[in-house]
Amino acid sequence: DAATRALNKRTPRSEGSYARATGRIPAGVSRQTLAYPPYPVFAERGAGQYLWDVDGNRYLDLVNNYTSLIHGHAHGPTVEATIAELRRGGALGAPCASEREFADLLTERFPVMERLRFALSGTEAVAFAARAARAFTGRRRLLKFEGGFHGSSDEVQQSIGAEPLSPGTFGLGVPNSAGLLPVPTLVAGYNDRAGVRRAFAEHGSEIAAVVVEPFLGNAGLITAEPGFLAFLAEQAHRHGALLIVDEIQSMRLDTGGAQRLHGVVPDLVALGKIMGGGMPLAAFGGREEIMRAFDGFAPAIAQTGTFTAFNVGLAAGLATMRHFGAEEVRALDRAGARVRDGIAKVFAGYGLPVTVNGTGSMFNISLVEGPVRDYRTWRAADARTWNRVRTGLLARGVHINARGTGCLSTPMTDTDLDDFLTALHLAVGDATK
Ligand code: PLP
Repeated sequence: DAATRALNKRTPRSEGSYARATGRIPAGVSRQTLAYPPYPVFAERGAGQYLWDVDGNRYLDLVNNYTSLIHGHAHGPTVEATIAELRRGGALGAPCASEREFADLLTERFPVMERLRFALSGTEAVAFAARAARAFTGRRRLLKFEGGFHGSSDEVQQSIGAEPLSPGTFGLGVPNSAGLLPVPTLVAGYNDRAGVRRAFAEHGSEIAAVVVEPFLGNAGLITAEPGFLAFLAEQAHRHGALLIVDEIQSMRLDTGGAQRLHGVVPDLVALGKIMGGGMPLAAFGGREEIMRAFDGFAPAIAQTGTFTAFNVGLAAGLATMRHFGAEEVRALDRAGARVRDGIAKVFAGYGLPVTVNGTGSMFNISLVEGPVRDYRTWRAADARTWNRVRTGLLARGVHINARGTGCLSTPMTDTDLDDFLTALHLAVGDATK
């Protein structure tokens, strides 16, 4: 189509790089999300809100390394802190005082993390939180939600792209990949209280923890309805289970994460993405009595990892988080509301069904009549038309997630967002011709 031809013309080097990469690297990438048709654009560099590809094209970057950059690329204070730390030596292989400093910052913002540990990735943070929950309760099952993404460990890489459950039901997780171990993970529908009640009624004594995102980051940004997270806490506690809130994506919504906005107090929290300032860094923690299992020279739970909590990541993350306060949150909230409104207007102008989900600095465009409050409705969205729109956006200098999710960074200006809306207008026009 026209969008693909326009992209081909602008990005011959990306096309060539991709062809070369696939010869050695399966699918040409080491992260499944980076492989999308016709081929991903290959990055050369990033600065602030922009990304440049290997052909020299500039993009407004609404991907932000999959929501993990709150200040965009090469944020000055973060770069300075990272370089200074590297000069002291990277990966010193001994604990650093900055770890306690960073832990204090996180506890101040997430008071439920009375004690916490660092990890290298969000995957690890959730996996260790789950392990802590199993150790604490002596139980083996997790209850998660269909469409919910918590990284790539076997027990949570379940029911991510699976056929929707019937409302009011639950099921055993459907593996999202070949090669996973059989796991006892249970799955219910997001925002479906009846399904959760049934899961607890039938398996209440086996569930160690409910693990949930405050919005489905990989499934249309469906947000937890008011009271849903508190309902999960209440159900879990009534049955002797714990609530793990995965704020790896949602911690960009507020300095205290989405849990503050929802007024819910989980037992364990997993953090990641923006807290590393562009470096791989994550954390998990919770109530003292749960985290005690990691204490001592011969702990009940052994956490290992050669690069865990390495000094360079801590330095980068601390610099980024110190520049993420109430003022930045307010500005991002305002920009987010403005862009969500603008997107809805663009699609309304074409008479296309659209649902624009998201809060704060996040938005998702799903080509389906709303409201989209469950995974089943979101799955029915018109992915083919969206794919054409996305290709048209790429050809016009907008880098956006293949599933229609975008996120803002602090350097973005109103002019950037207006340029995006103009490009969207043109891309939708082409896609619907
Ligand atoms: N949990 C959520 C909500 C995420 O969005 C992600 C990453 O996309 C993860 C967990 C996994 O984190 P990582 O990719 O750092 O392993």
